[in-house]
Amino acid sequence: MTKQLQILVVEDEEAIRTGLADVLVYHGYGVESAATGPEGLRKALTGQFDLIVLDIMLPGIDGYEICDRMRAQDPEQAIIMLTAKTSDEEIIHGLKLGADDYVNKPFSVQQLLLRIEAVLRRSQAGIEQARNIRLRDVEIDTANLSGRKGSESLSFTRREIAVLSYLAQHSDRPVSREELLTKVWGYPGNLEFETRTVDIHIAKLRRKIEGLPKEPVNLVTVRGAGYRLVTLD
Ligand code: CA
Repeated sequence: MTKQLQILVVEDEEAIRTGLADVLVYHGYGVESAATGPEGLRKALTGQFDLIVLDIMLPGIDGYEICDRMRAQDPEQAIIMLTAKTSDEEIIHGLKLGADDYVNKPFSVQQLLLRIEAVLRRSQAGIEQARNIRLRDVEIDTANLSGRKGSESLSFTRREIAVLSYLAQHSDRPVSREELLTKVWGYPGNLEFETRTVDIHIAKLRRKIEGLPKEPVNLVTVRGAGYRLVTLD
């Protein structure tokens, strides 16, 4: 028998919170919910959840702060953020704080379930640890989520290291955004998912590992084919 996966839903809108809890229980998950920021933070920090579904706009403490505090305690915690606006800034801010994924409101239950399954599949599988990665002027320590660019020290999220590791393992060829979504994010390959998540991560990575992010020499775009990591090994 496999263990029942536990999900914490932090959402102040009652209809969404209870609706989501019902659907997740129906799909076999154990669910706890919280209606305010402080309650969500307390449960997140004291409980053992396989995944936290986290609204951003919450009374008391917002979802960004909960995500940040949770990450400080447990860098491995899987988190999906619910974003009310479709603004890139909101999404980037959430991903920067270490959310694994985001779903825009209003969302379909089916869409959220697929993302939940994908995030859980990844976190259950763990990150495949690659060797350290050497690039021009950059060294990346994948085990410690850190690196150096000249005298500057770098830090990476788990997801960024997973992207870099996958690209490094296939550095002899370009990797398409769809392949990254399938292999690194764990989405089923036959679904049309937005590829913006990949682009946002690539842009963030370039700011870290390139001298001139607009003229990349390490993480290059191969027109019409995808991204390629130019490794020195
Ligand atoms: Ca809200």
